[in-house]
Amino acid sequence: MFTRYRINLFVLPVQSTRMDAIVVGRGESSPRIAELSRPEPGPGEVLVRTLRVGVDGTDREVLAGTHGGFPPGEDFLVLGHEAVGVVADANDTGFEAGEVVVPTVRRPPESGTNEFFARGEPDMAPPEACVERGIDGAHGFMAEFFTSPAEYLVRVPDDLAEWGFLVEPVSVTEKALEHARASRSAFDWDPESALVLGNGSLGLLTLAMLGTRGYDRRYCLGRRDRPDPTIDIVEALGATYVDSRQTPVPEIPAAHESMDLVYEATGYAKHAFECVEALAPGGVGALLGVPDSWTFEVDGGRLHEELVMKNKALVGSVNSNAGHFEAAVETLGDLPAWFREDLVTGIYGVDEYESAFGAADDETAIKTAVQFSET
Ligand code: NAP
Ligand code: BGC
Ligand code: ZN
Repeated sequence: MFTRYRINLFVLPVQSTRMDAIVVGRGESSPRIAELSRPEPGPGEVLVRTLRVGVDGTDREVLAGTHGGFPPGEDFLVLGHEAVGVVADANDTGFEAGEVVVPTVRRPPESGTNEFFARGEPDMAPPEACVERGIDGAHGFMAEFFTSPAEYLVRVPDDLAEWGFLVEPVSVTEKALEHARASRSAFDWDPESALVLGNGSLGLLTLAMLGTRGYDRRYCLGRRDRPDPTIDIVEALGATYVDSRQTPVPEIPAAHESMDLVYEATGYAKHAFECVEALAPGGVGALLGVPDSWTFEVDGGRLHEELVMKNKALVGSVNSNAGHFEAAVETLGDLPAWFREDLVTGIYGVDEYESAFGAADDETAIKTAVQFSET
């Protein structure tokens, strides 16, 4: 049972200095278990006992070798960037043992810190100015313990501990929506219609978030037949499911309506261009997908004209900073309980980690996580 009480450190059994981690090795495309040394917190760092770590499309891209990379000089990467844990050793940082925390993802590169981190905006750093834990150049959180500088940990209320691995993906949408809205801030923008491209975990989380932010009419695009659990969630959220095989993105205005906001979470590169046609005048498309290289034809002249003559915008958005994580904690607490429960289709023990990564081949799976310990 995953209980919700704060841990009393004095009753913890003596821990081994070895721990299990879930890693991918160079030249490998499947995760495996590795036994590693338990990390020791350095000055300013907190030791965190991991509770749960979520899996998303990016983890699958890392495994496929199309995104991210290994830490310098290492022949493996500890996976996982959507973590929640409990402070095991606060190490004089201002945290308290037993507090539930979520780590942010980006850290300064090996060459040293830079202005993006100094400003508290690592999410705005270009890839060469940061590493991403569990994704690109730094070990992630899929291990029984991890350490982190205190400044990269965000507190989570105890009663959200079991859902805390959703804070990171929610924070990604907090940032994207903030930037999309900022791009429309020079005029009186009052959006009502929104289209989410993608019925994966990021798309569905975003659809749920938009339901609490004044978007009266919401649509979500997928490519699945009914019955399907993601379509059930789309409809239970009061949104309309659009099948991209019957209604390609440029045809959505004729079939439904033009959209004030399009949020792309498919990673399907044509959607970055097609979404311009789906936007209403003055609308904005937020692009989140991280596709591989793909050359195809687009009518660049028409897209250029649409953007200019109808005052449309496209905004790319990646990652999120500590402020977005704090907003995400609030947002997560406000999402309906049934939604979280239907979205999270599997919590797997460390010995069942393969099931947590199997969602791409299993249409009954939506969001999964690996559980390392209990509160
Ligand atoms: P995911 O679980 O793989 O979800 C992608 C969804 O898009 C899937 O449900 C897939 O449908 C659907 N899809 C793909 N191509 C489609 C098409 N042509 N028509 C209709 N539906 C299509 O991934 P995720 O975790 O939700 O993440 C979504 C994307 O955002 C990924 O590319 C990921 O790397 C990226 N991402 C970016 C950030 C950021 O900071 N920018 C953060 C998180 C994730 P099927 O399942 O039926 O194939
Ligand atoms: C993560 C972000 C990361 C992005 C690009 C996403 O899945 O949630 O934190 O910046 O991938 O690597
Ligand atoms: Zn992610």
